[in-house]
Order: sequence, then structure tokens, then C-alpha cells
Amino acid sequence: MPSRRDAEALDRADPLAPLRERFALPEGVVYLDGNSLGPLPRVAAERVRRVVEEEWGRDLIRSWNLHGWIDLPARVGDKIARLVGAEPGEVVTADSTSLDLFKLAAAALELRPGRRTIVSERDNFPTDLYVLEGLARLLDRGHELRTVPRDEVLASLDDDVALVVLTQVDYRSGALWDLAVATRAIHDRGALVLWDLAHSAGALPVDLAGAGADLAVGCGYKFLNGGPGAPAFLYAARRHQEALRTPIQGWLGHAEPFAFEAAYRPAPGIDRFRAGTPPVLSLAALDAALDLFAEVETEALRAKSMALGTLFLERVEARCAGFGVEPACPRNAEARGSQVSLRHPEGYAIVQALAARRVIGDFRVPDILRFGLAPLYLRYVDVWDAVEHLAQVLERHEWERPELRTRSKVT
Ligand SMILES: *Cc1c(COP(=O)(O)O)cnc(C)c1O
Repeated sequence: MPSRRDAEALDRADPLAPLRERFALPEGVVYLDGNSLGPLPRVAAERVRRVVEEEWGRDLIRSWNLHGWIDLPARVGDKIARLVGAEPGEVVTADSTSLDLFKLAAAALELRPGRRTIVSERDNFPTDLYVLEGLARLLDRGHELRTVPRDEVLASLDDDVALVVLTQVDYRSGALWDLAVATRAIHDRGALVLWDLAHSAGALPVDLAGAGADLAVGCGYKFLNGGPGAPAFLYAARRHQEALRTPIQGWLGHAEPFAFEAAYRPAPGIDRFRAGTPPVLSLAALDAALDLFAEVETEALRAKSMALGTLFLERVEARCAGFGVEPACPRNAEARGSQVSLRHPEGYAIVQALAARRVIGDFRVPDILRFGLAPLYLRYVDVWDAVEHLAQVLERHEWERPELRTRSKVT
């Protein structure tokens, strides 16, 4: 069983260790929620300050050209492309993940006009299901969202399925889809696939092109560290782009926004999925944050994240047995995204008790304690210490303290 000294030795040997300094992490906090809101990269703070003071403050509206604000969604998209196995020009940043999912799903259904079924996982992140259901209702052409248990998704496909929407890493269990295998099975039934990469981008190698994926969306504020409400990204394989039509025909997705033509003409390529004016401050933060990834290979991130997860689960087994916590994630690191999840009926209060000890994770209904393992800044000792705190919370029944039991709006 690894000791704290072993964890320290792993940190000394960790090739990613120097990157921790690039984040403004509060002293004494073990941050295991970078899968939900990545911490602040120092370079992002500096970049936002510069954009506010020097670009917005001094150069005003001229900044759209002078500082390239107008092309920022595409430039940031190209940086993300490298992390998800896409080519430049296949990814653009815009809006939120929910909205991007809506736009791409609508466009996908038009490519399969004779088919009426959309398939997703029953336990998918709810926004995906809400959006798809709303889209089907809005189209009013008989589309139906069919949700099935994870292990039945591929076997459930038939010739009426137009689109399958899957989240590569399950937000609760961390279970990981094999992108290539699932994509192939979906294509074999003549359907298109839309991948939600919310918990994948920036955490593990994703090869959209290698898998032959059609469409994808993902978050800017999770493992990409773009800051609260950072714009999302969307991907469309180049072979589909000219045939895809967005349902939100905004002026910045027009071929020539400043021609102010009466009729809409889509921009060539992925840019047609831009709708309105981009959030420049947020985009600038995301743009700067992404530069940290330019220095690392996603394979190195993956290797460390798997090792962190394995250490976490080994320590839980060693220290927390007999207290009713059970792993709620795959034990095999290959089958897991960059998080570990545990299950306990008092999960919410335990997560609060950990936060009181400055170990930040989160809770997902009904009973999931979720710990994100972001390899850019987490140390092996952080994981070791986190589980030690968890063990003490359980041993001392700290979660029974009444003030820990009231639920806030955000859990
Ligand atoms: C976090 C998350 C989202 C978030 O959607 P927003 O519209 O950006 O709030 C979407 N899908 C999944 C799977 C997520 O985990």
C-alpha cells in the first residue's frame, strides 16, 4: 500500500509537476473540482487584465480588427482542435454546450430526413436530454427521443435512428465510452453521432478524426480552465460542414456579416455555427488558458490522471473500509475518465465536511461524491491527503454536523 512518502516520490518524478506553478491555487486547498470549474491560470488573469485595460479600455471598438477579436472564436477553436483530434477549421467556440448541442443536433437531423429517432443514454447529463426533447418538440415532424441504459445503446439502434448523442465520460460514474468502437457501430446503422466531450477535452486524448466522428460539443470551463461561463466549443467533421445548416442563423454565422444583406447566406465551414457577438473577455481567458496545453501531450495527461485515480481508490480501500463508502466508478483506470466517484447515503454532508477541511469535491444526486483529477496541477500528495481527510470525516462522523446538511443551490 503506497505511503505518503511514496506519493511525494511520485511528485518528484512527475514530468508535469512544474505546471502547477502556473495556476493561482489558494494555499492549503486540495482542489478536486477542476472537472466542474477549472482553477485560474495566472496567464488568464493577466490576459483578461490586458484585454480590459489596453484593448477595451484604450482601443475601444477598433479592437475588433486591431486585436483580432472578430477571429478569436476560430483561433481558440483551432487550439482546442489539437486536443480533440480535429484539424484547424473543424472547431469553433460559441455559446454554451447546451446551445451548441441544439444547433448541431438540429443540423444533423436535416442530414437524415427520413429518420425520426434520436437515441441517447438514460443517465446522460440532463441538459443533453432536455435540449434534444425540446428540439424534437419544436421541429414537430414526429421526431422522438429514445433514452436507453448505457449498455443497451448500441444494440438498440435500428434503421429509424437519425442521430445518437453520447457523453464520452459519464458525469456521475466517470465511465468512458470507446469513441471509435461506438462511432463505428452507429455508422453501421446509418446514423450520425454527436459526442459530448464536456469531461474529456483537456483530460484525455480524444481522436475525433481517427474515430470518424461526425459532430461534437464540449465545455470551456471544465478541464480547459477557461473560467466560469467560458464559451463552449463545437466540432463538425469537414466532410459534413457544407451540408450542415444551423437553426440559429445569426449574423456572425453569415458569409459576410458586414455586407448586411437582407438574406442569410451561411459562412463557409464551421464559422456558420457562430450566432452572435462572442464574449471577448471570456474567450480571452480561455485562449490564454489553452496555451498551458501547448506544452504537454494529452497522453502524458492521461497517464498521470490514471495514476492519480488508482492511488485515490487504493487509499480509499485502505483507509475507508467499513464506513459505507463504495466506489461508484470503474476500478479499471482504462475504463474511467479523469475523475473518481464514491457512493454514500450521506454523500452531500460528507462533501461539505471535506470542504470545511479545504478539500473541494462535489456531490451529485442521489448519493455520489465526485472528485475530479486534473493532471495539470494536482499532486499525488494532494490525492493522498484528500483521502486521509475523507477517512477522518468518516471516523469522526463529522458529516453529522447540522450546518453541513443544508443544501445550497449549486451542489
Ligand atoms: C457540464 C456539462 C454540460 C454543461 O452545459 P452548459 O450548457 O455549458 O452549461 C453539458 N453536458 C455535459 C455532459 C456536461 O457535463
